[in-house]
Amino acid sequence: MINKIINRALKEEELKKDEVLDLFKSRSYEDVARIFEAASELRNSKSRMIKLTSTVHLTNVCKITPKCKYCGFAAKTSSEGYFHSFSKTEDEISLAVQSIEKAGIPRVSCSGAHGYKGQHAVQAARIVKKNTNLELLVNVGSDLNQESIGALAEYQTDTVCCNLETINRELFNQLKPGERLKDRLEVCKMISNAGMELSSGLLIGIGESYQDRVNHLFFLKEFPTLGEVPIMGFNPYLDTPMENHPPCSLIEQMKTIAITRLIFNDLRITVPAPTIGPENVKFSLMAGADNVATVIPDQYPLDVKGVGSPQCGNLKEVINTIKELGLNPQLKETLCPVKEKGITKI
Ligand code: SF4
Repeated sequence: MINKIINRALKEEELKKDEVLDLFKSRSYEDVARIFEAASELRNSKSRMIKLTSTVHLTNVCKITPKCKYCGFAAKTSSEGYFHSFSKTEDEISLAVQSIEKAGIPRVSCSGAHGYKGQHAVQAARIVKKNTNLELLVNVGSDLNQESIGALAEYQTDTVCCNLETINRELFNQLKPGERLKDRLEVCKMISNAGMELSSGLLIGIGESYQDRVNHLFFLKEFPTLGEVPIMGFNPYLDTPMENHPPCSLIEQMKTIAITRLIFNDLRITVPAPTIGPENVKFSLMAGADNVATVIPDQYPLDVKGVGSPQCGNLKEVINTIKELGLNPQLKETLCPVKEKGITKI
């Protein structure tokens, strides 16, 4: 039964909702291992190159009230997070993105809290594109409008991210009482209508059902410019209303990554290192992910805490992990200080 579904996925046939639900319901070791193998096989058949994405956090001053219940990023939400308010200056952003490029990382995510109508994202796009050749993703959630999306396009922003987290409306309202799902949906539509690549992902382990995940993944298919799906496992941040909620299990994260790969064979499937735990990055790659995010080089000039958990991925460690699995980390040739065998230069 499950083999038939997997074979269809490997032939790049479109899976149906009930087939995907069956994959999620698989419990035996053999079945789950088969899903992981197939997902890796599918990714490797396209490319063995793993994208690396670093990060710059623009501001943690968030005007959403009440705060999202899991948030440890916004000021005053968690003693493990940044806690104190910050807004990075133009010079700080510029130095950070230059250090990322110098380390050979090809891509940066500039993300920030809510309440600026996207002007913080536009400023970041201008700085990144003026000072570096980095590929750029911006993520300020639903804090965008037509004007800021237009400006992001003018600055040649490569990808705009707006995570829906869950499309189970009741759960969304429970976890994000200061936001409305329809605002996030509207922003995803605006990004797509502007012809920009959309990144939109799932936060899992927050009380959603398998059917919710299936519905969400199929819903994402409706955005014509969808290019990236981040899969983020929940981790409790200390002092937040969800500090006692159990973390998402590793196996559920792997399963969701792998099934996402079986549905979206051509898309970038992203795992932010803090959401799976830097020590578990290898498992995300074994499940078919092809982009590791929140990867920080040693020379990074700013204090950085992950979104989802305080820990970030260290560049050297992530490179080693990728190579140990026989995959190729994508690094920039001209600026890359690492000239070792097995590293793919671009
Ligand atoms: S998750 Fe984002 S929008 Fe929600 S409170 Fe935190 S910073 Fe604000």
